[in-house]
Amino acid sequence: MKAVWAEVITIGDEILYGQTLDTNTQWMGTQLNTIGVKIIRKVAVGDQQEEIIKALDAASQRADIILITGGLGPTKDDITKKTLADYFNTSLVTDEEVLEYIRDLFSKRNLPMNALNEAQALVPEGCTVITNSMGTAPGMWFEQDGRVYVSMPGVPYEMETMMEQSILPKLQLTFALPVIYHQMIQTVGIGESWLAEQIEFWEDALPSHIRLAYLPSFGRVKLRLTAEGIDRLQLEGEVAEQVKKVFPTIEKYIFGYGDITLEEAVGEILAKAGKTLAVAESCTGGFLAHTITSVPGCSRYFQGGVVAYSNQLKTNLLDVPEEVINQHGAVSEATVRAMAEGVKRNLQVDFSIATSGVAGPDGGTSDKPVGTIWIAVASPEETIAKKISLSKDRLVNVRRSTVIALNMLRMAIQTTLANHS
Ligand code: AMP
Ligand code: MG
Repeated sequence: MKAVWAEVITIGDEILYGQTLDTNTQWMGTQLNTIGVKIIRKVAVGDQQEEIIKALDAASQRADIILITGGLGPTKDDITKKTLADYFNTSLVTDEEVLEYIRDLFSKRNLPMNALNEAQALVPEGCTVITNSMGTAPGMWFEQDGRVYVSMPGVPYEMETMMEQSILPKLQLTFALPVIYHQMIQTVGIGESWLAEQIEFWEDALPSHIRLAYLPSFGRVKLRLTAEGIDRLQLEGEVAEQVKKVFPTIEKYIFGYGDITLEEAVGEILAKAGKTLAVAESCTGGFLAHTITSVPGCSRYFQGGVVAYSNQLKTNLLDVPEEVINQHGAVSEATVRAMAEGVKRNLQVDFSIATSGVAGPDGGTSDKPVGTIWIAVASPEETIAKKISLSKDRLVNVRRSTVIALNMLRMAIQTTLANHS
């Protein structure tokens, strides 16, 4: 089956100036992918006729579908419509239906209309008008030399509604599209190069219509399997078979499939086991609790936590003995263990996590450089502590240690559950 390629052109000076982040292309990418259209390129140009035409010419060389957003506003700075009329050698004419729709919209909202509003009903003659149920600027669909060009408003929710209601279904009718199916294997606790080494035998044996990508972020690596074909059910079956094959090799790193987050996965295990959790945070300053509580329904297992930043609070609220802090320091195995055990006891939970470290960018010493972070996890049976050495970037350190802490908790729960099954 021949691949169908799309190119996305976003138009607007504000995108080039960096005042508006181009979220349209990202959204369109996921949607097009779902219906089997591949993106060959995305391009951003300003509100300039010459540049828009160059972009259209170039896209026509590569793509079957050219999707354009932006520049459809009623004001003089927006010139996409006029440019498209010139590009397709036609002129702007009033579309009576659109005009009626706009008049109706204004009268319903009790707003007066001016000439600029009326001009929104102008479209290049011969194009297919696409209804904009969220605004006044209509979409426009052109066909030339077997290619489709669609112009849409830049306002994200207007564009999204138009794509969902009209353009995606129309593209599916116009082109014979393959099925593209993705499955994600979510891993944590192993770097991508180590992961790649372990699963090389499997990766090399993947059939040619199933591709593998490594998507790393903050201590986790997503393995994305993409299968292409014509029968969705068959592709799902084939991918499931491949997941089954690789599973034994990386079982301990897998925390879930699809879009699940680590905090959701850990939460599910806790809820299922009927166990509770609390945290004692120093260097993560509440970020760990924030991450845990970003999961709806976390009250089933999360009791709460203590942000004990000062030594005094570590002692007063978590019963960390003063001598321990004096002798070993706040950033030490002994302190972080005592914090985890203290919060577990005082908040009466089954599991707890504690963090203490030098988050940076300053404050390190020769034996405890910036990025030195101790994490402890206490379970009903034991307390496990680990030292990690991260970077000088404060927020990165906080985020990374949160992932590592959640993964330590995941392993501790699994050990506890295994011992009792
Ligand atoms: P326009 O169709 O050019 O009048 O754009 C209308 C609004 O949509 C402006 O406020 C833009 O900032 C916004 N916008 C335009 N293009 C994009 C894009 N690619 N991603 C997100 N917002 C956009
Ligand atoms: Mg604009």
